[in-house]
Amino acid sequence: MKHPSRRFSTLAIHAGNNADKTYGALVMPIYQSSTFRFDNPDQGARRFTGEEEGFIYSRLGNPTTAVLQDKLAVLESGEAALAFSSGMGAISSAILTICQAGDHIVADELLYGGVYDLLAHIMPCYGIETSFVNTQDVTAFQDAFRPNTKLLYLETPANPNLKITDLRAASALAKAYDKRILVMCDNTFATPYLQQPLKLGCDIAAHSLTKYLNGHGDVIGGALISNKKFIQEVANIGLKNLSGAVLSAFDSYLVLRGIKTLELRMERHCASALQVAEFLQGHPAIRQVYYPGLPQHPGHTIAKAQMHAFGGMVAFELKGGRSAGAKLLNSLSLITLAVSLGDTETLIEHPATMTHSTYNAEELAAAHISEDLVRLSVGLEDVLDIIDDLQQGLDALMLK
Ligand SMILES: *Cc1c(COP(=O)(O)O)cnc(C)c1O
Repeated sequence: MKHPSRRFSTLAIHAGNNADKTYGALVMPIYQSSTFRFDNPDQGARRFTGEEEGFIYSRLGNPTTAVLQDKLAVLESGEAALAFSSGMGAISSAILTICQAGDHIVADELLYGGVYDLLAHIMPCYGIETSFVNTQDVTAFQDAFRPNTKLLYLETPANPNLKITDLRAASALAKAYDKRILVMCDNTFATPYLQQPLKLGCDIAAHSLTKYLNGHGDVIGGALISNKKFIQEVANIGLKNLSGAVLSAFDSYLVLRGIKTLELRMERHCASALQVAEFLQGHPAIRQVYYPGLPQHPGHTIAKAQMHAFGGMVAFELKGGRSAGAKLLNSLSLITLAVSLGDTETLIEHPATMTHSTYNAEELAAAHISEDLVRLSVGLEDVLDIIDDLQQGLDALMLK
């Protein structure tokens, strides 16, 4: 299903879609079946050895989910993809497939809270150690690699404060130390429309499908995109036997539906986020705005080189600190106080006590996640209504 000459929005709609051979349905049906009938025992045996293609049991593969996987592989410019029941399911299945007791991981210190918790607090119990470094300064972390390093784990733009890592430079550094080190990038904030890690030297792109790819706030899902060999390995080990974190046929259908409008949605998210970031920067109640599209952002030049646009996430610190943040979150009427991101609704949250509460106080300080930081996922409402809501909340902070 590869059409190298076709453009992103066309592929987002068409790639993988002519798979329903039974009735020729325009939209891939939901194959809500746990198991699949064999014509005879020989066929069943051939399916299990892989001599014959075909479905066996939905933990091992499902027709609706297979179409989603084909589409994701095309959009991320990978050979193959694997869908999971959550982003954490995808990421933990990959890590458990790559690493065994005695292995070592190098990761950025700023990560999605659940992944940080997994690497910092849970994997050490299984004999897998992680060194946390600042990958923004590529020269500063070359000493972190060890003979037992199996994985360099990156996230850019990073959750929650939009730190940017140069994917080409970071991948090159890992490969120069040992070309067997795999480089994995969590591409959730960017989506394949804005950034393609596999084209920038990474081996694996990971996603929470929960966010922009589904885009409508009604699914929890995840995915990995890589070469055929690695995806097959994760399918056989991490997914089939270790996590069993399989995406359902119904959720696959919903994500397929969401992806059809990914380009349109991302264009709007990006345009509105830039407008909101510029508004916030001009408001006297704000101390600092973090948005890679602003020329003052320390990662702006790299983001501009490796991304097509700068995404829909904005973070900021208020002059009055944490109490001002709480006041602002209490005073909004349109913007919803909730974690998650990439939905049609604009969402706001406080990372230090919510998404990143997996970091203890010292870890928050080391990762430069301030107590004052507020994270905003700019939605698809009229941007002037989003700005009006922020404006009334921020103006109220100025009245003492
Ligand atoms: C949400 C998120 C995850 C985890 O995904 P789930 O679908 O919630 O399991 C991982 N990485 C990033 C950047 C996220 O925003």
